[in-house]
Amino acid sequence: MAAASLHLQTLPPHLDRGTCDRARLARDGRFDGLFFSGVRSTRIYCRPVCPVRPARSENVTFYATAAAAERAGFRPCLRCRPETAPGSPAWMGTATTVARGMRMIDEGYLDRASVADLAKALGVGPRHLLRLFMRHAGASPSELAATKRVQKAKRLIDGTDLPLAEIAFSAGFTSVRRFNDEFRAIYKRAPSSFRRSTGNGTSKRRQPSRL
Ligand SMILES: [Zn+2]
Repeated sequence: MAAASLHLQTLPPHLDRGTCDRARLARDGRFDGLFFSGVRSTRIYCRPVCPVRPARSENVTFYATAAAAERAGFRPCLRCRPETAPGSPAWMGTATTVARGMRMIDEGYLDRASVADLAKALGVGPRHLLRLFMRHAGASPSELAATKRVQKAKRLIDGTDLPLAEIAFSAGFTSVRRFNDEFRAIYKRAPSSFRRSTGNGTSKRRQPSRL
């Protein structure tokens, strides 16, 4: 099973498939943020604490990051909302360059600068940086940045009444079009489809200063 062992390499070093599977079946909150479970029969990925009835173990693959699960073609679960999972300091502490890079990406570094800039800031070559990220996070720096932007946008869509254009820029997208494209690529739905229509044509919510 070459494919399976390849996926395992993306797990945090102190976790193995058996540990992850037991944590998932027990909905063990101590593992929340440490890994994500991709369910092959539904193509959806979840946090270990997902309230939905757990999938059969043989259908599940584990990933160290949400970006790694998305890279493998899984969509975020709309019940456990992977975008709200806590960070995973435990495994990040095990790979210093990757941990520092992940923090910089979380803070929006790649919304303004290139991956080459990131490598330079971390003191490694771009190819070495990519190798480190693939090994420890299961995804490239740009994939992690894309997931981060979409996750932030999703939290703003669910948690605020801000107009979608404003959310796009707050989340780090350089244009509304990129926001729509990247969001659709991950959720297979338009951002606007997550906005419940209130039914009363007049909106009371705050208006943006322009647009
Ligand atoms: Zn779920």
